[in-house]
Amino acid sequence: MSHARIRSMLPLLCLVTLSCLGGVRPRAAKDPAALRYNLTYVREPTPALDVEVVLVRGTPRTFRFTRPGGVDSVSAFREDGERLDVPVRDGLVQLPRDIRFLRYRYALEPRRRGHGSDLFAGSAEDDAWHLTGRTYLIRPNLAPPDLRVELVVEGIDALLPWQPDDKGLYHLRAEDLVDSGFHAFGGRRCQVVLQDAVLDVAVLGHFTHLDDARVCHWLKRTADEVLTVRRAFPYPRVTVRVISVPGRDGPGLFGMVLWSSPPSISLLVGQDATEASFERDWVALHEMLHLAHPAILPRVPWLSEGLATYLTEMAQVRSGRQSAQRAWGELVDGFARGRDASQARTMKEVVADSDFSPGTYWTGALFALHLDVEIRRVTGNRRHLEDVLEWLAARGSTSTFGAFGVAVDEVAGQPLFDALLARHLERPAFVEQEGLLQALGVTTGADGIQLVPARDSALREALESGGCNPRAGSCVSDASAIHRHP
Ligand SMILES: [Zn+2]
Repeated sequence: MSHARIRSMLPLLCLVTLSCLGGVRPRAAKDPAALRYNLTYVREPTPALDVEVVLVRGTPRTFRFTRPGGVDSVSAFREDGERLDVPVRDGLVQLPRDIRFLRYRYALEPRRRGHGSDLFAGSAEDDAWHLTGRTYLIRPNLAPPDLRVELVVEGIDALLPWQPDDKGLYHLRAEDLVDSGFHAFGGRRCQVVLQDAVLDVAVLGHFTHLDDARVCHWLKRTADEVLTVRRAFPYPRVTVRVISVPGRDGPGLFGMVLWSSPPSISLLVGQDATEASFERDWVALHEMLHLAHPAILPRVPWLSEGLATYLTEMAQVRSGRQSAQRAWGELVDGFARGRDASQARTMKEVVADSDFSPGTYWTGALFALHLDVEIRRVTGNRRHLEDVLEWLAARGSTSTFGAFGVAVDEVAGQPLFDALLARHLERPAFVEQEGLLQALGVTTGADGIQLVPARDSALREALESGGCNPRAGSCVSDASAIHRHP
């Protein structure tokens, strides 16, 4: 389902304050209670974003570009209108005293022409742009938790991670700008409506075989698959940007979640992709499944990637999109790729080597599978990995590695996490694979993957079916799972 998103007219005030980059306004009679960001899209002489930040009394004087390189200097204006050019050094901007507001221009065009498509710094076609907030949006270097931010975008329709009020004003906190997620300017909009949530989607660029309704339909089906893992969609509103990549026909070429608040997703899709090719796409599902686990801080990529990678295969079985045999085949192939990359190193060495290597993803996925199996085994198949995700979700959208382990033990009803972790982390990567798959009845022969009766094959069938989720058509309830597999 799809409909155009209609943006309310912005208040006249914004039009006035944003009308001219060089001018200086008279000082407001009273300081605003929040930092005010005025963003203006300009087309001439070349596409750019003009950013104006009106300071509040007491605002820290050190600002930062989280991802520096796009802006060399900012203009800072004193109370009396005097203008000072302040250089950006190592991403930092040190403002002199008595600065009333600052302005700078982030040029979009050089990035498109000079460096090709850049998901982070600015890319897309015609008047549609995709970039990360951290590239172009200056922020207070330290974000006091009580510092409010108001932000408005003028001159183009924007899809930012946050939801504006009905006047188009975003009400944020300074810490929301620490990771300000993916941003889209221009393009078209469609919306995916779920029972408890909506996905606001920006489609950037054009597709040969797809209209926007088909793109949104694909994302709707993908979001429904998340409900084979979680009881409800993890966030009430999430934004997704879909960017067409010319000359390619693959569906999900690349995807990424950024941990803005709420998280924001962007997906690169081949311009020549067909609706049929979405049938085998896993990239969008993988990204949405990252929403099913909390943001682990500090980051532990092997755990978050392992969870998403394992669940990506299982969710497609539970929704009926792929057979169990195929899912196990994908896992076994992935484990083999990870093992090739890992050689004889321990899992600890493998995951320390690179955050985003096949070794990290697949050793994490093997651990996630093992965790799911062990929780089911010790609880007589009454509890499972999804219960851990629900337990954590009830306690917030961020968590820690330690809290993840606590949640596992809580759900299992006994200490389990540390011992299982030690079996993987301190020993050669993938050393647990053979015994685990054998117990589950997953064998690889000349005819490919066979699923056969084995000690824990009932647990295998249960995890293929998922936990109890009445809204996911193919799932079985806890009770029936126990009944079927005593
Ligand atoms: Zn991932």
